[in-house]
Amino acid sequence: MALKLDDMTQVLQETTRRGVGSRRWQKPVYRHFLPPCNHACPAGEDIQGWLALAQAGEYEKAWRALVANNPMPAIHGRACYHPCEGGCNRGELDSPVAIHAVERFLGDLAAETGWQVSVAPATGKKILVVGAGPAGLSCAWHLARMGHQVEIRDAAEQPGGMMMYGIPAYRLPRDPMNKDIARITGLPGVTLRCGQRVDDVVRAKQEGGFDAVFVGVGAQLANRLNIPAMDGRKMTDAISMLGAVSRGGRPALGRVVAVVGGGNVAMDAARTARRLGATDTVIIFRYDPQHMEALPAEAAEAVAEGAKVRWLSVVDHFGADGLVVEKVTMNPDGSVTPTGETERLAADAVVLAVGQHSDLGLLADAVGVKVQKDGTVAVDAELMTGQAGIFAGGDCIGGARTMTTATGHGKLAARAIDAWLAGGTYEHPASHPLVRFDMLHLPDYRDAPRSVQAERPVAKRMGFDEVDAGLDARHARYEAQRCLSCGNCFECDNCYAACPEQAITRLGPGQGYAVSMDLCTGCATCFEQCPCHAIEMEPEPAGQDSAPAPSGFKVRA
Ligand SMILES: Cc1cc2nc3c(=O)[nH]c(=O)nc-3n(C[C@H](O)[C@H](O)[C@H](O)COP(=O)(O)OP(=O)(O)OC[C@H]3O[C@@H](n4cnc5c(N)ncnc54)[C@H](O)[C@@H]3O)c2cc1C
Ligand code: SF4
Ligand code: SF4
Ligand code: SF4
Repeated sequence: MALKLDDMTQVLQETTRRGVGSRRWQKPVYRHFLPPCNHACPAGEDIQGWLALAQAGEYEKAWRALVANNPMPAIHGRACYHPCEGGCNRGELDSPVAIHAVERFLGDLAAETGWQVSVAPATGKKILVVGAGPAGLSCAWHLARMGHQVEIRDAAEQPGGMMMYGIPAYRLPRDPMNKDIARITGLPGVTLRCGQRVDDVVRAKQEGGFDAVFVGVGAQLANRLNIPAMDGRKMTDAISMLGAVSRGGRPALGRVVAVVGGGNVAMDAARTARRLGATDTVIIFRYDPQHMEALPAEAAEAVAEGAKVRWLSVVDHFGADGLVVEKVTMNPDGSVTPTGETERLAADAVVLAVGQHSDLGLLADAVGVKVQKDGTVAVDAELMTGQAGIFAGGDCIGGARTMTTATGHGKLAARAIDAWLAGGTYEHPASHPLVRFDMLHLPDYRDAPRSVQAERPVAKRMGFDEVDAGLDARHARYEAQRCLSCGNCFECDNCYAACPEQAITRLGPGQGYAVSMDLCTGCATCFEQCPCHAIEMEPEPAGQDSAPAPSGFKVRA
């Protein structure tokens, strides 16, 4: 068929048919992702959120955002093992953001300036918290902020649990710790009763007219090993020794002290023994260096302070002939086989640091509450035990057994108790997808070495003064500015400036951006220019016209 050149109708019809010609097949969508630091924090902090505020010098807002999840920043900024930093994407670039140091700065600043928080109107509900360790304190904080009345009972003379009677003061000085704790116990609606052991949780609940109970009794009893000790040789355990030191005692251990165990507590025992006057501290550990149980940083500090490690060794006996250790070999299942080869060490005292377990006598008559074979309390996903209204968390339910995990448990239990008191079940909010380092677009970034905290020189570490110094405001802010804001927009305007079609509009500070789908061609320039992966390209629905659709979002919604 011949075309009539003066009539273009058919050409127009052919070329404007659906699907003919250039057509957008993908579109940018602003999204929120979960940064790996937030994901790794056992207390569930929105680290990126409070770092962003600290970057801007908004310290009080940053502290408020922090304590919305963790009420003990001065404590955690010092003694948390900071798994958040192990996950930090900046570690792939140079070194992780020193999150703990900024956290400590905010915690200390809050104490200095006296920042306080408000609580919701009273609900009329009353909750008993057994144990004033990090689990109980965290639970009390969150419950009180929801408006519930909380009574904390603790058997010890001071609150804090193992933070007070375990972690040595050279890592966690008592003054900043007590200030974090006082803010919690001083909240309206919170009563703290120390020196009050709870022997029967059900009776205490009934007699006190409590609506629910949280059990956070920790794992306070030291495990023992069957080591024959003859001739009155001094054998103790790390929990008793560190507890005595925290209470102001100075146990006489002698000049040569052997510590049995290879975990973090063993490192604290060795470092404390040195401060008590030991000239030689030897750690007896049954595994090889590749299977050290202590975190590398904790072990390195102990070694820097002079501790020596006898690897692949177990204690045979401790008597007049000194401490006799036997060499072992490791088996793939974690057991060890004695070799018969022994060695004699001239030890004055042996300190056992081979784990702890819980005293759960208070739950003996609680119908439905199950204690598992490993000596931990069985709980469901909302931390409720087998008896409705009795919740548990922290070391007594097992798991990682760190103060940060206990703090996270306390928060979760508070939310679960609140939901249960209202007749419902706590629903965990769905989390955003994780943003990995390879999802970031960082063609350019500023060299910014990690801030280093000053340390007390080893030669001057004879007492219990704090070893690590904090960061000043300038360095804390600089450190916060090293954060890459992984997975969440920080309003750098890159996308806005880079769009060749000028399809992106700024909505104003904190309001995010909108993309005009009339103008957007789906070229993905904005996506490629977004350093933190806050934009994703989504395919257009197949077989449909690219109907103009506004795409807006809010920053940190
Ligand atoms: C030496 C040492 C060093 C540590 N260092 C660190 C560290 O650097 N970082 C870290 O994250 N973790 C550390 N941990 C672990 C951390 O301290 C614990 O995981 C954490 O304290 C557990 O918190 P919790 O609230 O479950 O129990 P706990 O802290 O043990 O507190 C339990 C509380 O319950 C009270 N209680 C017990 N039974 C009763 C009862 N029947 N009635 C009333 N009160 C009762 C106790 O008196 C205690 O105050 C360390 C532990 C030790 C032993
Ligand atoms: S509590 Fe620990 S893991 Fe969480 S942000 Fe602080 S240092 Fe990191
Ligand atoms: S760079 Fe910032 S947001 Fe990303 S993981 Fe590290 S602290 Fe978190
Ligand atoms: S390019 Fe910048 S402004 Fe645009 S989404 Fe990413 S972080 Fe936000």
